[in-house]
Amino acid sequence: MGEAVFRGIPVSSGVCVGKVLVLGQQRAQITREEVAEAVVPQQLERLEQGLMATRQQLHEIQQQVTQGMGAKDASIFEAHLLVLDDPTLLEGVTRMIAEEKVTAEWAFHIVAERFAHTLETVADDYLRERVSDLRDVAARVVNNLIGHHDDVDLAHLKEPCIVIAHDLSPSITARLDKNKVLGFGTDVGGKTSHTAIMARSLRIPAVVGLQKISHQLHAGQTVLLDGFNGLVILNPTDQTLFEYGQIEQRQKSFEERLHEIRDHPAVTLDGAQITLSANVEEATDAAEVKLVGGEGVGLFRTEFLFLNRATLPTEEEQYQTYRQVASELKPQPVIIRTLDLGGDKLPNHVGLTNQDTAEMNPFLGWRAIRFCLQESAIFRAQLRAILRASAEGNVKVMYPMISGLEELTQSNELVEQCKAELRAEGVPFDENLEIGAMIEIPSAVMIADSLAKRLKFFSIGTNDLIQYTLAVDRLNEKIAHLYDPTHPAVLRLIKLTVEAAHRHGIWVGVCGEMASDPAMVPLLLGLGVDELSTTPPLVPPIKYIIRRLKLAECTELADFALNCESSAEILTRSQALVSRAAPDLFGTSK
Ligand code: PEP
Ligand code: MG
Repeated sequence: MGEAVFRGIPVSSGVCVGKVLVLGQQRAQITREEVAEAVVPQQLERLEQGLMATRQQLHEIQQQVTQGMGAKDASIFEAHLLVLDDPTLLEGVTRMIAEEKVTAEWAFHIVAERFAHTLETVADDYLRERVSDLRDVAARVVNNLIGHHDDVDLAHLKEPCIVIAHDLSPSITARLDKNKVLGFGTDVGGKTSHTAIMARSLRIPAVVGLQKISHQLHAGQTVLLDGFNGLVILNPTDQTLFEYGQIEQRQKSFEERLHEIRDHPAVTLDGAQITLSANVEEATDAAEVKLVGGEGVGLFRTEFLFLNRATLPTEEEQYQTYRQVASELKPQPVIIRTLDLGGDKLPNHVGLTNQDTAEMNPFLGWRAIRFCLQESAIFRAQLRAILRASAEGNVKVMYPMISGLEELTQSNELVEQCKAELRAEGVPFDENLEIGAMIEIPSAVMIADSLAKRLKFFSIGTNDLIQYTLAVDRLNEKIAHLYDPTHPAVLRLIKLTVEAAHRHGIWVGVCGEMASDPAMVPLLLGLGVDELSTTPPLVPPIKYIIRRLKLAECTELADFALNCESSAEILTRSQALVSRAAPDLFGTSK
């Protein structure tokens, strides 16, 4: 069993070695086994028990899904239960056990497969769709018969492992047991998917776009996952482990040096001061922001409060969360972004995952501010919670996905209404609460002057700005090579945004993943951004780079980039500048 290397897209740095846990490979392997005549009644009894256990499981799941997602989504399990009661199927299974003297699991597997095969060939669409129900149920019955339990509880894993899956949704990632999941690799996905973003903030090494790895690996195998270079190495040799051990050593001693500048400002060698803040997803992340020396929160992705639960968080619950972060980081600012549900962040409870409302192009659909302006009760509850928290810290609010002036005006009107309500109720809030907007849609850049007049700051969401400018789905690994932060169009849009902001005397930051990419720092500084907000673990290395650059050389680079036609050339120059300024940052390539 030699070493085998799988290549993907590195999305979260770090190296880990461990046993594989493959999600979605739940069907156990079984083979034909004959039994003695005397054991046949026992097999029939086992079949009965297996069916009973499966019925009970399905009822439980049905109940959970009804509570979490509604009765409509739970109806699929009704179809599964019907399969279990199908007299023709059950008769076929009992006959096979009795006549061929085989185990209950083998008989169930074979008879169900025959049924599935027949259904696959019929012309009726409805019946054809029942094939997957039938196969699902058959796998469940077989697993119950042989005691193979497939439902991995990712929140309570028994052993440390490296999770391999076809895909991991942000909500599953949010539920992962952070102490047990050493790293993860997926078949699909891109660098700025929210799953990748979460991996970075959880400091879990991750590689996506590994194509078919979830079919190629099996539970229990040993792999080394290299989140720096995007590799998964099956059966790593001693030599490989030794080389990676050395990388780890270099990484450790570099981190110690980074710690020394924790309380120093992010200032360039020629004295330009940059605000360096952090992106957070939940209240407990505030401690991490302090630990890494971030200057407050540049982006609080509040939608994570809405995932993995059956009901919406109340105004009070949201208030407690925002208040906790604001007071912990006071007097540093905490920019709370209003709800950006939709795209790849789908909650259980507001109809976004329902079959009837599933969208063809979720990133172009009912998302973020569009969703909030229609679901104004949800939006108001959040605005009230943010306003209330503003009494207890330096809170600012920011709208996501603004595409035109109308959305800004409507949102501001709602804020004014909420303020009026709170005033009437005698509830304190910051009357001067600053409002900003994310600039992440090209149309917002083109009207940036109109927006800037009405706002106190901009934060450029490069993850979306790149996807919408280049028409490249940020989740799709097949076109990941086209997702190009140094595309001249993207850089020019950033420049236009900075110019409009500065014309109107407001500051502009970048909170997309471009700000967390060391190679992009000189470009962003040179384009004139005032703030960078990065994933917390990246605050120290980004600060290290800023402190070793001169703004003058960054401006020269940006001037070159704005007149250059080749994104590759821009990238090479920017990377060269960073490598020259901070050579010890790159001790992790293999
Ligand atoms: C962005 O689009 O760059 C951004 C920061 O927002 P999100 O990644 O949550 O869409
Ligand atoms: Mg965005």
